[in-house]
Order: sequence, then C-alpha cells, then structure tokens
Amino acid sequence: MEGLIDEEREIVKIVREFVDRDVKPVVQELDHANTYPEKLIETMKQMGIFGLAIPEPWGEARVSTPCYVLVTEELSRGWMSLAGAMGGHTVVAKLIQSYGTQEQKDGYLPRMATGELRATMALTEPGGGSDLQAMTTTAKRDGDEYVINGSKTWISNARKSDLLALLVKTDPAARPKHKGVSILLVEKTLSTPGFTLSRDLPKLGYKGVESCEIAFEQMRVPVSCLLGEAEGTGFAQMMRGLEVGRLQVAGRALGVGRAALEDSMRYSQERESFGVPIWKHQSIGNYLAEMVTKLTAARQLTLYAARKFDSGQRADMEAGMAKLFASEAAMQIALDAVRIHGGYGYSTEFDVERYFRDAPLMIVGEGTNEIQRNVIVRQLIKRGTVAP
Ligand SMILES: Cc1cc2nc3c(=O)[nH]c(=O)nc-3n(C[C@H](O)[C@H](O)[C@H](O)COP(=O)(O)OP(=O)(O)OC[C@H]3O[C@@H](n4cnc5c(N)ncnc54)[C@H](O)[C@@H]3O)c2cc1C
Repeated sequence: MEGLIDEEREIVKIVREFVDRDVKPVVQELDHANTYPEKLIETMKQMGIFGLAIPEPWGEARVSTPCYVLVTEELSRGWMSLAGAMGGHTVVAKLIQSYGTQEQKDGYLPRMATGELRATMALTEPGGGSDLQAMTTTAKRDGDEYVINGSKTWISNARKSDLLALLVKTDPAARPKHKGVSILLVEKTLSTPGFTLSRDLPKLGYKGVESCEIAFEQMRVPVSCLLGEAEGTGFAQMMRGLEVGRLQVAGRALGVGRAALEDSMRYSQERESFGVPIWKHQSIGNYLAEMVTKLTAARQLTLYAARKFDSGQRADMEAGMAKLFASEAAMQIALDAVRIHGGYGYSTEFDVERYFRDAPLMIVGEGTNEIQRNVIVRQLIKRGTVAP
C-alpha cells in the first residue's frame, strides 16, 4: 500500500475486514444460488464504496485511483461480483465529472456518491462488442427530444441501475464513424415507456449480479441527456472512461488471483502426501512461486497504470497492459489453484472452483484481451519509445 495516504490505507483495511467478516462466510451460498447480494450491497453503500471516485462538492470520500484499485482487489478477493457491482458505476461517475454539464454533475453525482442512484454503461450490442463504431443503436433528434431505437446486451447491473451511460449513434452517416457516436445519460425504470429489459443472460460465473439484454423502441428522452455539450464526441469520451474501467477489471483480477493464491497457501500447508505438507513437493512449491510472482507483477503494473491515469495523461496503453496482464495472471493462478487442491479443486464445497469460473470474465469484459493488444501496440508504435 505504499504511495497511499494514511486515510486511504485505512479505507483498504476497512474493506478487507468487511470482506473477511461479512462476505467470506456467505459467498458460497449466494454464488451457488445466484442470489443478488442485497445486504452486502447496502453495506457497501453505507461504507461509501459507490462514491470512491466522486470528489467534493458532490461526494465525501474520493480516493486516488491506486487506492480505488486496491479496494476493488479486496472486494473481489471476497467475491468478484461485488466488485462488478461498482465497476460500471465508477466509469459513469468519471464520465460525468470529466464531460458532464454543471446540471448533470449536480443532478447525478451526489446521488451516485451515496449509491442511492446506481449507474452502468451500455455499449455492447448483440451484433458485436469489439467493433463499437459499428453499433446500430440510434438516437434521432426530434425537437427537444431524442428518440432511441436499438438494443444492447451483456449489460451488467441493468436492472438495479437507474442510470445508463448509453452509447448511441446520433449521426449514423458520419464518416469517420466515431464522429457520429454520442453518450446519452438515460434515467429509466423497468416501466419507462420504450425501454424493455428483455432477459437475464445465463453465465458461467459472475453470479448474483445480473447481466441483461435491453431494448429501446421509440424511447424518448430530453436532449439535455446528451453527455456534455456536443454530439459526436461520445466515442472519445468512452475511450477515456474505459481506462478506469480497465483498471477496475485489473483490480478484480488481482482479487480473484489473490484469493486463489491465499487458499492454495493454506491448503498446501495443511494437506499432506508422502508424509509431508504438499507445498514441500517441488512441483507444488513451484506453482506457488509462479503464482505469487505473477500476482505481484500484475499488482505493480496495475498500480503504475493507476498512477498514470491520475496524472491526467493518456493511459490507454497502461490500463490495457494492466488489464491484459492481470487477467491472464488470474486465469493461470485460478487454474493452478485447482491443481494444488487436487480433487477438492473440482468440488463446489471449496471456493477454488468459483475463482476458476470468475477469472475468465476479466479476459473478455471491458474489451477483450485481443482488443487490449491492439490498443497497446497502436500506442507503442505511436509513442515510439519504451524508455522510462
Ligand atoms: C459477464 C459480462 C458482463 C459484461 N458487462 C458489460 C457491460 O456492463 N456493458 C457493456 O457494454 N458490455 C458488457 N459486456 C460485454 C463485453 O464487453 C463484450 O462481450 C466484449 O467487449 C466482446 O464483445 P463480443 O462479446 O461481442 O465479442 P466479439 O466482438 O464478437 O469478439 C469475438 C472474438 O473476436 C475477437 N476480435 C474481435 N475483433 C477483433 C480484432 N479487431 N482484433 C482481434 N480480435 C478481435 C475478440 O477478441 C473475441 O475473441 C459484458 C460481457 C460479459 C461476458
């Protein structure tokens, strides 16, 4: 936690204690029953977790991005779904702070800071998530309103969030295509005319928190919903927002990786074979050594990227590297944890199987790792140097 101020260290510690006290004892039951963690989310609201990215005068407990990443790691160590419940929310909060009008900031941020209003982002469409510029959801201007038509899929927290940062085409004919993309801040309930939550998507992991398909049919919203002042800037706005989103996903990967490593450390000291604790077998010891090395490298890379983000400089390459490396590390660590636990690694009575189901989300979500590599190499060539 070096580099964090005392108050931030205290926040990370409080979240760690919350996870050990309130999350670890109930996570298996909630996950296996795919139950929405109402009580835990309420506690997270009271702890100020939904406001960690919102500064004064709208919020009370804004922290640095490295601290935010470490809080995410702690939550995810308990249950990745809890960290997922506040990921998109933070991206939307950052978007509103950076690009919103005064009215949007004053109207949304105070309620978002307490968690009273939850937010999520809606980018991906059934026809594709990686090629965002090819999206087909439109918002057509009609007097003082936009009329929205289209559908989005895989939208996390879509039922529990009343505010969507919705990526739309306000000018489908614009070339280059990104100049026709805008973000609308859409407040909705499940009974808002023109809005439908079509279905919940069944998933391998990331249980308890909903991921949904949503549809818009002639949905009317006031033009004041446009994020910022000008149409056609939404793509660039979202790319900056996704930097923090990718740092959050890296933080989630750190949490899953750490939980898998901690469980493996414990188990390999308790379990004996051939008369010794299994960690003393060189193969198992080597797994543990590789796991801690990968986890430590992933955390350092993520904190480095988080500091770069806070410096105000462009950090897409750094956030992409952090997300890529941390998520691949989490996948490998989760798999090695299964190996170390032997047959029990395959048992639903142990947490290890959950880490193994949750880890793959981080290689896909917030832009797949193939897309991260594209982002990284483009910036690498553009910057032309890797000198420190
Ligand atoms: C549990 C879950 C929660 C999610 N939550 C949200 C959310 O809240 N909001 C939201 O908007 N989205 C969300 N997503 C969607 C997620 O961001 C997309 O699934 C992801 O961006 C990939 O899009 P796709 O699934 O359409 O895959 P596709 O774009 O169809 O890609 C398929 C494959 O082709 C590869 N590929 C595609 N294009 C290229 C290329 N140019 N170069 C190299 N490889 C390429 C991809 O990497 C992938 O391997 C969520 C997804 C999941 C699984």
